[in-house]
Amino acid sequence: MFEICPACGKYSDGMLVEQGKIRCPACGNAAPFVQRPQFFLTGASGVGKSTAARILFDTRKEYVTLECDILWRDFFNTPQDGYADFRDTWLRLAANVSQYGKSAVLCGCVTPEQIQARPRKRYFSELHFIGVVCSEEEMARRMAKRGFEPAHAAASGEFNRWMREEGPASGIETIDATRLTPEETARRIHALILSHLPQ
Ligand SMILES: [Zn+2]
Repeated sequence: MFEICPACGKYSDGMLVEQGKIRCPACGNAAPFVQRPQFFLTGASGVGKSTAARILFDTRKEYVTLECDILWRDFFNTPQDGYADFRDTWLRLAANVSQYGKSAVLCGCVTPEQIQARPRKRYFSELHFIGVVCSEEEMARRMAKRGFEPAHAAASGEFNRWMREEGPASGIETIDATRLTPEETARRIHALILSHLPQ
């Protein structure tokens, strides 16, 4: 909504964000704008983040939990640019959610640098990355249980390893779910989110 100016009617992806306002670069009109903390729930596929996200979706109303897969289409499959169009679509959607006074929690495989590279990150007051990880043995067990193809399992295992080793240095707050039930994982995520929400 806010990328279309209410005064001149022009669309712009270059809207200027100011304190509590968004300004049209074409006519200078300023409209009210809410910046909220934005959350990304990330982790390798198979680690259990989506199950935890589903629990948050069903039980927590302090924020809006959204599974990024719901908008996935083949044309978004552009690893060469960090899935830029897909990230932009979600950042635009999440910033619209923010206007209702709630933060969005986007669940999907993402790295901080893929979001930091997107200009629309300016729509938020803070970016928080929460990463679910588990041990290699537990990861292998969870993927086998779900019947992952070898290539998928290898990629997921590698991403899990990367997040365990490099996640914290890359700005990801990791939760080790090796010995946690999905409910316990969801509780840890919830507590972390609440700690970053304005009181
Ligand atoms: Zn305008």
